[in-house]
Amino acid sequence: MDLVFFGIQGSGKGTQAKKLAAEFGYDIFEAGGELRKIAASGSELGERVKSYIDQGHLVPHEIIMQVVAEAIATRSSDTKILFDGIPRDGEQKRDFDAVMRSADREFRCIHFLLDRDEAEARILGRAKAEGRADDADTAIIRRRMQTFTDKTLPIIEEYKEAGRVTEIDASEGIDEVYEALVGHLTP
Ligand code: AMP
Repeated sequence: MDLVFFGIQGSGKGTQAKKLAAEFGYDIFEAGGELRKIAASGSELGERVKSYIDQGHLVPHEIIMQVVAEAIATRSSDTKILFDGIPRDGEQKRDFDAVMRSADREFRCIHFLLDRDEAEARILGRAKAEGRADDADTAIIRRRMQTFTDKTLPIIEEYKEAGRVTEIDASEGIDEVYEALVGHLTP
């Protein structure tokens, strides 16, 4: 069973993904990380992708869907994938669900809950540590969070209505959140 992690920027889902993958052998697909690799490649496509990331806009649908479809196609069926940062809007959800269905992959969703002010404070701290331009500018952080609220929350709601979402309080420390996560995943 694959996992899809949802959470506002700064909710710590990337950190939790790494811990869970290390302990339980998931292969992480981090959408933002994959796109940042393309942006750093110096190609024409990379320049295009970089301009969206730097402004805090979603990268065009076709680009991200091609990257994720390829990642799914190149993993064997016995690899468990942990998706972080995809799908992010209704159009991505539609295509992601279809790709997963045709690859015969099942998934459940985890939503890390954190309020916006706390999330913003955490991201500004992370910007210093990781040197990410899109984390250092408050206006861009807010744009990304607004996209999460406007486009991603509605699809989490759809998955929730389908009974596929586990919600985790992400306001606690890393170890407490991880304990709650593992508690929900292991019977
Ligand atoms: P993140 O590291 O998840 O905060 O993502 C950083 C940036 O990568 C976002 O602001 C978008 O520009 C881009 N990005 C990440 N995931 C997606 C996605 N699923 N669809 C489109 N753009 C994305």
